[in-house]
Amino acid sequence: MGKLHAIALGCQMSAADGAELAEPLLRRGLRWTDSPQEADAIVIATCTVRQHAEDRALSLIGSLKPWREADERRVLIVSGCAAERLKGWLQERFPHVDLVVGAKSVEDYPKLVEQALGRRFDALAENLEAFGAARAPSPTGSPATAFLTIMRGCNYSCSYCIVPAVRGRELYRPVEAILEEARRRLDEGARELMLLGQTVNSYRGEHKGRPVRFAELLRLLDALPGLKRLRFMSPHPFFVDERLARAMAECRSVCPQLHLPAQSGSDRLLKLMRRNYTRGELLRKAQLLRRHLPGVVLSTDVIVGFPTETDEDFEMTLTMLEELAPASAYCFKYSPRQPTEAALWPDDCPPSLKEERLARLNEAVDRLTEASLLAQRGRRFEVLVEQGGFGRTPEGYKARWNGAAGLPGELVSVRVTGASRRTLLGERDER
Ligand code: SAH
Ligand code: SF4
Repeated sequence: MGKLHAIALGCQMSAADGAELAEPLLRRGLRWTDSPQEADAIVIATCTVRQHAEDRALSLIGSLKPWREADERRVLIVSGCAAERLKGWLQERFPHVDLVVGAKSVEDYPKLVEQALGRRFDALAENLEAFGAARAPSPTGSPATAFLTIMRGCNYSCSYCIVPAVRGRELYRPVEAILEEARRRLDEGARELMLLGQTVNSYRGEHKGRPVRFAELLRLLDALPGLKRLRFMSPHPFFVDERLARAMAECRSVCPQLHLPAQSGSDRLLKLMRRNYTRGELLRKAQLLRRHLPGVVLSTDVIVGFPTETDEDFEMTLTMLEELAPASAYCFKYSPRQPTEAALWPDDCPPSLKEERLARLNEAVDRLTEASLLAQRGRRFEVLVEQGGFGRTPEGYKARWNGAAGLPGELVSVRVTGASRRTLLGERDER
């Protein structure tokens, strides 16, 4: 019986793609394995948002050459964003890859696999009856959390970002299809749903003849029995408005957490980045959320060393961060990507300066993270157990505790006594 392994590099969307690509193969009768060495087929979902991510993908593909060549029946499939950007080149550079499918073709993937490799999979899957309709393990690692892609692509054109080029224009899944998948996931044991899309809150659909925006979609999902927690990634600040804040506050399952990717605190750079908001507007959105959802926990993304970034621009990013006061932030060194607009401009911030700014930014973020964690001391949280003794609060804080560990998917009460670097520490509250 053939075995399948999938590896996702990059964002949650890529992890969701990896699982989505694995599922038609599991339905064909392959069985899941956690070990790449044991696998007869491997699917890689690649990322190309920064050069570093692409380099990792290439090195992984290269390192699988001996595995692929050890047995001619084995199958290696490379998919995702880097596959879209490098298609023909990849096939030439790595002849041991059996099939390259770009991120724009995710929807057509089952058909493409069928055309290219159908017979080979039939040979691997000897017993179709026994393992029909299998699911890939949850990309989150926790059976209680299910990813649910609600839209693909991006209609923005941030000057630094390759996503629109490799994922194409926005495409929204119909509301009914989303509700149906959500129900199925809940029936299978999920308690938390993570809605995914590049600008997830620009979602538009229709339900019973009425237009549905993202806020209404949250309300429709919130009404599903069995749903304990609803999260979403990645919202665009432009579409964060009163309507969304109200829906977040009024839906019992929506978590008091929002990722608000700022990218920069300098209006001049925000304009060059084509982000479609100013520093002031971004900070007002954060205030709006805090007004509707007291205690809401924010996180953000920041890029340092963008073309023409001055010391003054960078200082503005630092002060923006203090004002936004996120509990965590992902900070990146600017990486020029072909074929984006910014890649045409000189990458004029020297590597050492990028490094220095990144280190200063990370220091500031570490301080904010620590302050935010320590401020939770003495509070009780309902934690969704991911593995025994480890889970997440509704705000998205990671938590570890002493006392009864709990089972994955269980909701337990934890009293916070302290914090390690990025995790709340506490005692299981048995009351
Ligand atoms: N759709 C999401 C972002 C997807 S990319 C959004 O709009 O928030 C994830 C993050 O990678 C971005 O928020 C940005 O901070 C970073 N990023 C994207 N392109 C980059 C580049 N060329 N160099 C460095 N960081 C980049
Ligand atoms: Fe990239 Fe901007 Fe689209 Fe996010 S909104 S995926 S950063 S182009």
